[in-house]
Amino acid sequence: MHEFLSGDFDDADALRRRIAAQDALIAAQACELAHSRKIFARASEAAQIGVWECELADNSLRWSDVVYDIFDLPRGSMPDRATALALYTPQSRAEMERRRSQAIAERSSFTFDAEIVTARGVQKFMRITAQVECEAGVAVRIFGMKQDITAEKRAVDKLRHLAAFDAMTGLANRAQFQERLTERAEAGALAALLLVDLDGFKQVNDGHGHMAGDACLREAAARLSATCAEADLVARIGGDEFAVLVGAGVNLETIAELARAITTAMGEPFRLDGRSHTLGASVGIALAAGAAPSDLFVNADTALYAAKSGGRGTFRIFKGEASLGRDSEAA
Ligand code: GH3
Ligand code: MG
Repeated sequence: MHEFLSGDFDDADALRRRIAAQDALIAAQACELAHSRKIFARASEAAQIGVWECELADNSLRWSDVVYDIFDLPRGSMPDRATALALYTPQSRAEMERRRSQAIAERSSFTFDAEIVTARGVQKFMRITAQVECEAGVAVRIFGMKQDITAEKRAVDKLRHLAAFDAMTGLANRAQFQERLTERAEAGALAALLLVDLDGFKQVNDGHGHMAGDACLREAAARLSATCAEADLVARIGGDEFAVLVGAGVNLETIAELARAITTAMGEPFRLDGRSHTLGASVGIALAAGAAPSDLFVNADTALYAAKSGGRGTFRIFKGEASLGRDSEAA
């Protein structure tokens, strides 16, 4: 301004015109800036991406509207770190603070998915990206984006659950069972694998229909879970076939007791169409000690076959081909 006043102008009119032109330019630029801000705000709102920045000197914060919305805080209220951090779950808060300190120290960036409970008590998941800004080599500001990923997280969790659990019984499915079996056998964390197959289950389907068969499988799954409360994993691995993984440190006698408890539980009558129906189950056991992890399933299946041939409603423990014909309950 000083420059204009002391500039080389012929008269006051020329000066006024020059100032008016400058004012018009400033007004046009302000208008353009306001328009850009509006477009940016609309884009950020449409994408539900919030923008934030924090001055490191005094921890003062600036948020876009979407950030307020994510936290369920009134738009335009004065944001402060303490209020925002109080809405993180303790675990997410600790992790967020750790990553923030590390990013500031290393002048780096991070992305982190945090769990929050908003000001209205709603559980949400929020993706945070952060980047440190330096001036003359000194970290002065941290800024980034915040995005509500609750719906995405729920969909992914549901898919993960579907991929790992049997929809009908809620037990682990075959894929999860295979994974855990390999993992635990290779880590030496397994004592035994039990395969449990219902006896005469087809009669339920044939005599009472498929729906009654499904109800029966759900009841069998519940009984198995209750009986194997201490087991590492109970899974439904196919039609009427279930599997149980027993963790290392459990002795043979306890494993045999568990198998006996399973055959007893499955021998209790099932209620079908208001009538009682007795089924039972056979159990094949493979002991992890001394066996290759890859052989366990085949060994348990061989023992199960022996239990079926041995009259059903009983169990067999795999002890190599030679001993399969004998009743292992006594062993
Ligand atoms: P066994 O005593 O030899 O075990 O014979 P089983 O009658 O129990 O029959 P098996 O174990 O050989 O076959 C299981 C049957 O379970 C075959 C199939 O028709 C039925 N099944 C498989 N999946 C389902 C299901 O999801 N629901 C119902 N209701 N039945 C199923
Ligand atoms: Mg069966």
